[in-house]
Amino acid sequence: MSTEGWFRKKVSFPDKAAGQSSATVPVGLAVKCVKCSTILFNRDFDKNLRVCTKCGHHSRLSAQQRIDFTVDAGSFEEFAGDLRSVDPLKFPEYSEKLLQSVKKVGAGESFRVGFATISGSRCVIGVSEFAFRGGTLGSVAGEKIVLAMEAGAKLGLPVVLFTASGGARMEEGLIALMQMAKTSAAAALLSKAKQPLIVVLADPTTGGVLASYASLGDILISEPGAYIAFAGARVAKQAQTQKLPDDYQTAEYRLAHGQIDMVVQRRDMPATLGRLLGFLSKPTEAAPQSNGSNGHLSSNPLDAPSDVRHESYIAETSDGAF
Ligand SMILES: [Zn+2]
Repeated sequence: MSTEGWFRKKVSFPDKAAGQSSATVPVGLAVKCVKCSTILFNRDFDKNLRVCTKCGHHSRLSAQQRIDFTVDAGSFEEFAGDLRSVDPLKFPEYSEKLLQSVKKVGAGESFRVGFATISGSRCVIGVSEFAFRGGTLGSVAGEKIVLAMEAGAKLGLPVVLFTASGGARMEEGLIALMQMAKTSAAAALLSKAKQPLIVVLADPTTGGVLASYASLGDILISEPGAYIAFAGARVAKQAQTQKLPDDYQTAEYRLAHGQIDMVVQRRDMPATLGRLLGFLSKPTEAAPQSNGSNGHLSSNPLDAPSDVRHESYIAETSDGAF
């Protein structure tokens, strides 16, 4: 479920043209821009890639929307979609919250990975599911990111990751923090295999995610207005003696201070990524061929040998249940 201002019941708007005091809009037909409060019809909003037509605000996306807006139609082939966390610390109410998130969001975890083609360039792609526990980095998200990097290294493919996360997952404690080292080690593995890592820091990218793999891309991209921060605004302000600028912790501020490489409009993202992948890709003999078959999937990333995976905290399901 998106955090946008969805109408939960019928809402009335003035209908001046009809000379009426109000008109009724059915549930789900329109949304309100969280920045400028303009009412936008869903049909137009979707057509504009969920960017406000008035103020240009880039709204948060589900993982599926991100995939649909980015990769070539029909090219996404997910793997490791059946991994589930097993509540390793028996954290109070964690199992119930996970089940609720699965039911509410319709996703198994806070990260999805797969093979895809972006503007004609083959790659491994990973996308945060922010609506699932705030896109937090837990054992399964960490494992999937590692699998994506290992697949890139093994198959000779570049890796593109879209982040949107509140940081490490509190309910998994130290095991969640371990994912920072684990994903960083995997990024080093990919680098050693001479395959590029492109990270798109979407709104919001914070905490342990920013402090690990999200900052380790060869190229760091963001979307206009995205919130990018290690600590929250209140904590950051308390830690500083001087007044911070209004755009502190935004993509634009990061760009101006050399912390990211570019800020790209959502509509330009596929072409930009395709161009970068074309520049950076270095096909190897192991790289999959675009022969119309699924031959490139014959090497299951789950079978890849690993120095950085810790599978004992993760369950594999075949029926999507815990
Ligand atoms: Zn707006």
